[in-house]
Amino acid sequence: MYPTYGYAARDARTPLAPIEFQRRDLREHDVRIDVAYCGVCHSDLHQARDEWRNTMYPVVPGHEIVGRVAEVGPGVTRFKPGQLVGVGCLVDSCRTCASCAEDLEQYCENGFVATYNGVDRVSGDVTCGGYSTQLVVDEAFVLRVPDNLDPAGAAPLLCAGITTYSPLRTWGAGPGKKVGVVGLGGLGHMGVKLAHAMGAHVVLFTTSPSKVEDGKRLGADEVVISKDPEQMKAHANSFDLIVNTVAAQHDLNPFIELLRRDGTMVLVGAPEHDHPSPQVFNLIFKRRRLAGSLIGGIAETQEMLDFCGQHGITSDIEMIRMQEINDAYERMLKSDVKYRFVIDLDSLRAAAR
Ligand code: NAP
Ligand code: ZN
Ligand code: ZN
Repeated sequence: MYPTYGYAARDARTPLAPIEFQRRDLREHDVRIDVAYCGVCHSDLHQARDEWRNTMYPVVPGHEIVGRVAEVGPGVTRFKPGQLVGVGCLVDSCRTCASCAEDLEQYCENGFVATYNGVDRVSGDVTCGGYSTQLVVDEAFVLRVPDNLDPAGAAPLLCAGITTYSPLRTWGAGPGKKVGVVGLGGLGHMGVKLAHAMGAHVVLFTTSPSKVEDGKRLGADEVVISKDPEQMKAHANSFDLIVNTVAAQHDLNPFIELLRRDGTMVLVGAPEHDHPSPQVFNLIFKRRRLAGSLIGGIAETQEMLDFCGQHGITSDIEMIRMQEINDAYERMLKSDVKYRFVIDLDSLRAAAR
């Protein structure tokens, strides 16, 4: 067992605080990773506060993990000590169902094992995430991080990157396509960068007038203040695809009206309370579609990392110490993140000494 330091939520109301726990002894195909950086996803906040009503406490969040391999089990073939690697939202799945066979482990029909707040398929223990000094993961769920990327800026690719990359690819974002991204937070700013790199015409929808210039700098061809009905109307019936990353309940109708015939809005934001049902006629008259999408499989996550390596894409980050996590959560709730907090885990190692 490996003594490990982390930060955990003990219940839905109290701030995260230090915790000491053990990582398992290496199984044959396990990789032990010294965590260097961990991104702060809005899902971490939802789960720490039990907003999805399934949290098992204490919970150690964190699923945007980059670090170096420290040790490998005897059967590991793909990784060596010292290598820069990533771990995202998944650490295991059944590996036999139809979805797993299609490299869609996130839709595993027997339930994937989440990086935190999941249940280990062998021991039955609750998994602990990347707000910690080290991690033990089966090599099948470990990703290679391209060497040319800044490791801290690459961490958010493991969730924010893949969660926007997957629907952009699934719905064919590329040259000649008009793609909207709703919300300029962690997911949204990756969606803008990735859709731009894929060659689409990108329109950012934001509620924050202060983010207009950043939206353009990040790769949006146009930026629309979504609260302004006139600006919204100018884009009616014109989008092939809209990726909606908003972390709170809101009216979907103003966005659905912007889709062209056969256009799709994909929901990736996962708010505590469901959005009100949209108007049916808005959908049926133009055969518009409302869809959802969950992160991405391991193969597609590697494809996304390699794409980011080729295009030099990382997240725009604000580095924080582990001890600043509770303030970071409060700022995230105010949409005051530019555009992802990333925890430097050395801050936790130093405090643990
Ligand atoms: P985030 O950094 O907090 O960004 C969310 C953005 O949504 C904000 O920056 C803000 O952008 C906009 N927003 C927030 N509240 C709003 C409101 N009341 N009305 C309109 N816009 C609002 O969060 P994130 O980490 O990107 O995560 C976004 C959501 O995706 C979360 O619910 C998270 O749990 C979910 N998620 C889903 C998956 C998946 O697999 N489907 C994976 C990861 C995360 P503006 O200031 O630009 O308006
Ligand atoms: Zn996430
Ligand atoms: Zn499966």
